[in-house]
Amino acid sequence: MQSEPVKARGMVVVMSGPSGAGKGTLSRALLRAFPRMRFSVSATTRPPRPHEEPGRDYIFLSEDAFHRMQGEDAFLEWAEVYGNLYGTPRSEVDRLLEEGYDVLLDIDTNGAMQVRSRCPQAVLVFVVAPSMEELKRRLRGRGTESTASLKRRLAEARLHMALIGHYDYVVVNDGLDEAFQRLSAIITAERCRVSRQDPESLMRLSR
Ligand code: ADP
Ligand code: 5GP
Repeated sequence: MQSEPVKARGMVVVMSGPSGAGKGTLSRALLRAFPRMRFSVSATTRPPRPHEEPGRDYIFLSEDAFHRMQGEDAFLEWAEVYGNLYGTPRSEVDRLLEEGYDVLLDIDTNGAMQVRSRCPQAVLVFVVAPSMEELKRRLRGRGTESTASLKRRLAEARLHMALIGHYDYVVVNDGLDEAFQRLSAIITAERCRVSRQDPESLMRLSR
């Protein structure tokens, strides 16, 4: 009889980095490549961008609705980022982990520090562009921000970068393929940690 493969428990993977560094692009590539990974859809008070779909990209909420969720302790973490509120709904993350999925969070540095203290096993990855010049080019090229929002995001990039020392890994997003390969290697290695394996499945290997 063929034995079952070792079952790994789901893990939380946090991706942070300056706006425009490529977190969204890399997240989408990871989700395509790792079928056992799911994206944690955040709630936000930011208005939707064209092409953003409620429920897929974000749960778009009024400030009142966001505050209600805060009052119900419904967020694993939350923060004000670039003048808007963002939060990770706790119930969805818990459900996915229980079902054995790895959960990918694209959240800011403040939120990442909250996740670190609540889920010490979480993997924290910081994504950066190869230079500030390139970051500016990418953020402008994306064409989603007003002049004021663009300025604010660039001004805050350095503040976010100062917290890089709290992360487990850094991925410089120079070429997309290369950055994706490095990110995949991180996920694969983290999944092989003995501490993430189901002890029952490991025992079965010696029977
Ligand atoms: P973030 O989610 O970190 O704000 P995005 O994923 O939206 O960043 O990327 C910002 C812009 O840069 C997008 O237009 C995206 O297509 C582009 N981009 C992402 N990665 C690269 C790369 N390695 N080389 C060139 N452009 C990139
Ligand atoms: P954007 O408005 O470009 O989609 O996101 C702006 C910033 O908010 C990004 O740095 C993104 O990582 C962060 N962000 C998105 N969702 C959350 C969340 O649920 N919590 C926190 N703390 N930050 C978030």
